[in-house]
Amino acid sequence: QDVVNKIAAGEIIVAPVHALKELIENAVDAGSTALEVVVKDGGLKLLQIKDNGHGIDKEDLPILCERFTTSKLKAFEDLSSIGTYGFRGEALASISHIAHLTVTTRTKESSCAWRAQYADGKLTSPKPGQSADPKPIAGQPGTQITVEDLFYNVPSRRRAFRSASEEYAKILELVGKCAVHCLGVSFSCKKHGDNSSGVSVPANASIIDRIRVIHGSALANELVNFKAENERWGFKCEAWISNANYSSKKTTLLLFINHRVVESAAIKKSVEQTYGTFLPKGGHPFVYLSLDIEPQRVDVNVHPTKREVHFLNEDEIIAIICDEVRDSLSKVDT
Ligand code: ADP
Ligand code: MG
Repeated sequence: QDVVNKIAAGEIIVAPVHALKELIENAVDAGSTALEVVVKDGGLKLLQIKDNGHGIDKEDLPILCERFTTSKLKAFEDLSSIGTYGFRGEALASISHIAHLTVTTRTKESSCAWRAQYADGKLTSPKPGQSADPKPIAGQPGTQITVEDLFYNVPSRRRAFRSASEEYAKILELVGKCAVHCLGVSFSCKKHGDNSSGVSVPANASIIDRIRVIHGSALANELVNFKAENERWGFKCEAWISNANYSSKKTTLLLFINHRVVESAAIKKSVEQTYGTFLPKGGHPFVYLSLDIEPQRVDVNVHPTKREVHFLNEDEIIAIICDEVRDSLSKVDT
């Protein structure tokens, strides 16, 4: 059973950035407005995320890392939303099977914070002979999740990592995407013991300011936006995209479907084609696209390792988006 759990966990979480994605989603789901990430060795040694969300009840701590433990019942009932939301109640469980996991949390109602450590889905004692029960400690409302020694018990996975800086770059890219999308939430991400490195976005920053902080002024000054919706295909979208004055060596696509970061090769390809006639040869755009699609229209048969998402009437929806892109680009004088 334990081996099965470990294998399952290793399939869901292939790299530190995948664990972090789950942890950021949990923090945002908890209504946080401030999120701090600290990383050591590309996330393999340490991945820590602190939020100011609603916290976790002390009573829920013993089962927190059991598989399918979720407080998000509505989303769970709506099984068809699994495709976008990832597997329900599996993230913390998975992480506890392949790393040392410590949760420190305090709800508004609680007079103190509680710290719990987990291994293989269960509470574990910090030191042999000590109790595994959660311990009261001082702390502010919110939750801090600490993931240490990721893949310590999966040597093959550990060996697969070439460089910590590559993993850190992926982490910065993810935090940067989330920071652009999550208005009203402050983000910071840095290497352990190094305050200069990383991302920092204040809570009150507008979307243009968020893009400016993360991608620079040259881009932020050349943005256009549009909204589109279509009842028949059950979707709405909002986009901020680079105009024809801007071009980059590679396409940057920040894609969110129902507020989850996803990838879509189909959208990327069509958008690139649409830009083709507007940009100099070899030039590529920046595209931030937030799509809301009725959950039952999003493909449920996507394996968790694939961040790639499919949805009903993909071609029709992409065509509408690309029409908007074309319109927006034609309107701007170059
Ligand atoms: P899911 O997000 O699918 O419910 P997870 O394994 O990611 O499953 O998390 C399990 C549960 O732990 C969540 O449903 C939530 O109740 C709680 N939780 C996890 N992270 C946080 C957090 N940062 N703040 C508050 N609650 C959290
Ligand atoms: Mg989750």
